[in-house]
Amino acid sequence: MSAERGAGVGATRSRVTLDTPVTYLKGVGERRALLLRKLGIVTAGDLVRHIPHRYEDASTISPIASLATGMDATVIGTVISKGVLPTRRGLRIFQVVVRDATGMIEVSWPGQPYLDRVIEKQDVLLITGTVRFFHGRQLQAREFVNLGEGAEGAAQGRVLAVYPTTEGLSVKVLRSLVERHLDVLLPLATDPLPPEMLSAAGVPPLGDALRMVHRPASIAEAALGRSRLAFEELLFVQLLHRRANALARTRRTGIAFESRRTLTSALRAALPYELTGAQVRAVREIVADMCSDARMHRLLQGDVGSGKTVVALFAALLAMENGYQAALMAPTELLAEQHCTTITGLLAPLGIRPLLLTGSLSTGERRAVAARLATPEPAIVIGTHALVQDATAFARLGLAIIDEQHRFGVEQRKALGSKGEHPDVLLLSATPIPRSLALTAYGDLDVSVLDERPPGRQPVTTAIRPESARARVLAFVAGQVAAGRQAYIVYPVIDESERAELKSATAMFAALTGAGDGREGEREGEGDREGEGDREVQGDREVRGGWQGVFHDRRVALLHGRLPAEERERVMRAFRDGALDVLVATTVIEVGIDVRNATVMVIEHPERFGLSQLHQLRGRVGRGAEESYCILLGDVAPEAAERLQIFAATDDGFAIARADLRLRGMGDLFGEQQSGAVMFRVADPLRDEELNERSRTIADRVLASDPELTAPAHAGIRRALRERYARALELFRVG
Ligand code: ADP
Ligand code: MG
Repeated sequence: MSAERGAGVGATRSRVTLDTPVTYLKGVGERRALLLRKLGIVTAGDLVRHIPHRYEDASTISPIASLATGMDATVIGTVISKGVLPTRRGLRIFQVVVRDATGMIEVSWPGQPYLDRVIEKQDVLLITGTVRFFHGRQLQAREFVNLGEGAEGAAQGRVLAVYPTTEGLSVKVLRSLVERHLDVLLPLATDPLPPEMLSAAGVPPLGDALRMVHRPASIAEAALGRSRLAFEELLFVQLLHRRANALARTRRTGIAFESRRTLTSALRAALPYELTGAQVRAVREIVADMCSDARMHRLLQGDVGSGKTVVALFAALLAMENGYQAALMAPTELLAEQHCTTITGLLAPLGIRPLLLTGSLSTGERRAVAARLATPEPAIVIGTHALVQDATAFARLGLAIIDEQHRFGVEQRKALGSKGEHPDVLLLSATPIPRSLALTAYGDLDVSVLDERPPGRQPVTTAIRPESARARVLAFVAGQVAAGRQAYIVYPVIDESERAELKSATAMFAALTGAGDGREGEREGEGDREGEGDREVQGDREVRGGWQGVFHDRRVALLHGRLPAEERERVMRAFRDGALDVLVATTVIEVGIDVRNATVMVIEHPERFGLSQLHQLRGRVGRGAEESYCILLGDVAPEAAERLQIFAATDDGFAIARADLRLRGMGDLFGEQQSGAVMFRVADPLRDEELNERSRTIADRVLASDPELTAPAHAGIRRALRERYARALELFRVG
């Protein structure tokens, strides 16, 4: 290495490979190398794979003369003067005047005086911003790219790549670095993917793709180049997951159940309804897993109300007809009880009674259940995390089912799976995400999807109402209650200590019932102890009157996460049993509670919730035969309104989850740990859903014929995987 360094720049350049550290490239010194490292660029190969995150197209550039106040525009112009102006308020504004062939305009960057050191006279800038009127037209810059001196001609008529950068390294420098070395580096980029695969995926070879992303002739060409790089990432992650899954299956020896069709057929015959096509499919997938000698590790996901419980019940009966025990773990006592009631009903014709095990059983009852489970008799037990406590021992646990799996920690999920003799594991999830995405996110789980609703359920009528309609909305709710129905009213916060500007469950509970602790001024006019002085801090005047105390003679309860667990259970139970009319709550009611008589869900400050969360909340009503309503109440900003319209317009949980993902990113949905495991530089499994689907099909096909990737055609893939992913070393070891 040191000899090479001594050989001088010219000599090293001729021997550049993609593995050459960037420090050996012309134009990169120690300081730049450090900055590049921050962007993940260590070698020449990393540099060619550092691809633009967007493009500026000459066709999107406006002539300066055409700019009008209020326009959002991109211009290219040469800096003819510049300076920093202090304002009276102490803000310093960097300003330049730029000129193109058609005219001049002032451009300003408030609060960014340091730009004076970055932008010089005669530099050509590409600037995007909004045109304001301020002593004449002025462009308020949102983004800009410094193309460098005399670059105006070069930028004309072509698509300009804009690279992700880091502080201290401008786009200009980065672009010129790539430009300078691209011709030498491109021919070195041999494609790890065989040509047949590229054509199957419909993407260009690597060298072409890299040229297309760095020097596109058009935006469409840049997108095509990008798709090749995205495809490779998606394919590689799929290969890793599918391989890990296959290995785990063979290692995970489990119970090979036999489909005896005794109990399962009896259930099928006794069901009060026909299974949906999706349920039949899911049952078939689960039965196939359970009947193989590998251990099942499957996620069953389906929208709220898609009928996951009965699918899980088929699995439980398959275990039982093989002489095993099955356990269903739910996140709350109430849900466990609810499952127990449903399942008791469904199994009554079969003469089977489920066992219930929760923390609130008496010691004696608990002991009796424990004694049953300690005998190797087939049984189905439903419970809370009490099921995984040490005292609970299963003589013959064959199947562990975990409902609302995301509500449990990894440890609790594992704990149930490690009871007894390696039971098969079935996880249930109501977060409906596209299948290919689920496979990417959950890695080595198998996934079944219920993408069909049982028939007969009417959709919940969803409405968005402004603050000014508050009195009418609450009168409507009161009408429903008067007709014997029940209602939920949901708030984003427990009390004003969280966010003073938001309506809170506690304060509104007081206001709606006309009782309360006197802190909430909205009850004014009803003997408010605090009197007039409080008025100024209260919000909207026009809502006053007509609705306070609307539920003063109704049975209303407050429910939120700061109440002790027993108190929460007590309130939910009272609501379920019809002993309450209205529940004023935070999102603690989100989890699968099923109260058929509840027909109204009012959600205040709806913009504070994610779309999937709103959908879960809406799923709490419309569970019975009565027409049901979900009302989003409050004034929201236009962007939020748009988002809420998406929600109101569809009842399809998958569509909503997709929209949510698009708007909020994946981290929210998968949780930190899982999103951290899904690392993509180029691909976006959501935006590239179709490509992801293709990559999954291709990955499956490859592994089916060549599970260890030892075929000569796959040598490139194997090498690339082992170089890039530590996990691949272990997964593709042989050969
Ligand atoms: P989730 O998937 O949200 O857990 P559940 O299993 O609680 O859904 O089922 C929701 C409701 O739909 C239950 O009342 C259940 O009895 C009913 N159900 C399930 N499958 C069907 C079906 N195939 N036809 C009609 N109703 C069904
Ligand atoms: Mg459920």
